[in-house]
Amino acid sequence: MARAAKILILVLILLLLAGAGYASQKLTLIGWNSVVEYKSQYLAQLPRGSSSEPLALRVVLIVVDGLRLDVSRKLPNLNELRKDGADLAVKVGQPSLSYPGWTVISSGAWQEISGVTTNWYKGPVQADNLFKVASDSGLPAVAIGSPGWKKLFGPYLTEAMTVEEPPEEAPPEEWAKVDEETYRLASEALDKFSSGFILIHFVGTDAMAHNYGGASRELLDEALRVDGFIGKLVQKLDFEKDVIIVTADHGHIDRGGHGGWEEVVLKVPLVLKGKPIRKGLYTEQTQADIAPTVAALLGIPYPVHSQGRPLLELIEASAEIKGRKGLNAALQLAGFYDSYAKALGSSPFASGILSKYREKLASGEEGSFEQFYRELQAKAAAVRSARLWRERLARLPIALLLALVPLLYLLNYRKRLRSLLIPLAFALLYFAFYNALFFGRGYNWSLSAFNTEAQIKAFFNERLLDAAISFVVAGLLLALFSWKKPVFEAFERAVSYAFFTGYWILLQVLAFYWLYNYRFSWYIPDLKLGFKYYLDLLQMVPVGFLSLIVAPLAILIGMGIRRWRKIPAEGGG
Ligand SMILES: [Zn+2]
Repeated sequence: MARAAKILILVLILLLLAGAGYASQKLTLIGWNSVVEYKSQYLAQLPRGSSSEPLALRVVLIVVDGLRLDVSRKLPNLNELRKDGADLAVKVGQPSLSYPGWTVISSGAWQEISGVTTNWYKGPVQADNLFKVASDSGLPAVAIGSPGWKKLFGPYLTEAMTVEEPPEEAPPEEWAKVDEETYRLASEALDKFSSGFILIHFVGTDAMAHNYGGASRELLDEALRVDGFIGKLVQKLDFEKDVIIVTADHGHIDRGGHGGWEEVVLKVPLVLKGKPIRKGLYTEQTQADIAPTVAALLGIPYPVHSQGRPLLELIEASAEIKGRKGLNAALQLAGFYDSYAKALGSSPFASGILSKYREKLASGEEGSFEQFYRELQAKAAAVRSARLWRERLARLPIALLLALVPLLYLLNYRKRLRSLLIPLAFALLYFAFYNALFFGRGYNWSLSAFNTEAQIKAFFNERLLDAAISFVVAGLLLALFSWKKPVFEAFERAVSYAFFTGYWILLQVLAFYWLYNYRFSWYIPDLKLGFKYYLDLLQMVPVGFLSLIVAPLAILIGMGIRRWRKIPAEGGG
């Protein structure tokens, strides 16, 4: 092939890389907004079921923000409640952020269903929830704590008692005052409302974890202070009529931060105490089970979009009463999941499963509700997964095409594939540099990596810079390594280096595209892979654009060194 044609191909590759950089930048925005502005398609108006025998007159649900399970085990008053109550852990959904968690706790609907995916959610929550059901049933529905509760549930509240929050970086004393104010308001609310659903939210612990870390002394101190308040609030309760529940919205990693999938973030305490609570240590359940359990205790209808189940095994009541509560829950779940199937374009399956179990459920047969629930969940997961796989199959041809087309570049090297080994090696060096900078700092593919909202932008800009530095450094090393080569060969090597780097990033981006698409309308993708996808796109931006600089630079460096050392290029090119 003529030299001019070869040069043309190399320049074309550089332009394509820059184009890929530009497209990646657009895709980061589309992907990010797809999660932040995710709109649920599952919030159909559904009829509420009937109420049942109240087992508690008042349920006091305390959310200690950001309280890890291990930290919760160091709190004396909470441990006292555990001794005479039900002691379990619950699994949180993702993203494991505050508003999404509060919504799961109040509605029993996961993030994908409630549509509350971040703390930027513009309330009020559209999913049916305990506040709404309680007030519709004529019971007080009260929230005490962060103003966020009013934002999310304002229209459904009998009363919102909110505290004023200082900036997150405020010193511990200021956050201690916030929790003390929460305690004062909670104490007032317990005097004022002797029935209904009372939610108390302590926020200071979360600020301490963000500022000092999930395993810090400061967090433990604040958690102990909140525990002291819980102890005093318990004094005001009458366990003949009241049930207290203590839980958290999410945990924190050791360095502070949540949102991701780490065990310390996803596993939080759940403690219940009161006359209708059967004491004991229970197996881990899910955060979505809290709302239906509260509804079962108060005897109010289940929130219609709830996906969790009432934890009947820890409720003390006659088999008849539990049977009715189980049947009501099954009816609600069947109604929700049939409408869920419809929203997914699939035929309804839940009523069919319900009719199989209906008699057993009505007679209150031990374990029948749990069995029904397991079968329902498995079927729902299968329906979701079937649609995902149908769409994956449809995306496969284009993913494969985009993965294969760039390989045409290699046709250039049919008879001299070995000459690609050196650029390939330096592309690997790029990934070694980039990943060392990322994992070496203790980061992971997790939303917990950035500790506060203010850090998000800086965090991603740093990853962009990491990629830019790694790409330029490995490119310069290649140029130095190739200094004896004639101009054309040095240029060719640099372009191949950029090609391999960009191509490997492209393959990873395409793998995610194939699995989850580049925007999401009816599901939230796996967020660990989603985070990696976002970082891959962010790498492509500097790699794409800097290719235009690194390749000519390689020529200049070789020429410069040769002139300085007065040595002609190898082969005299
Ligand atoms: Zn939180």
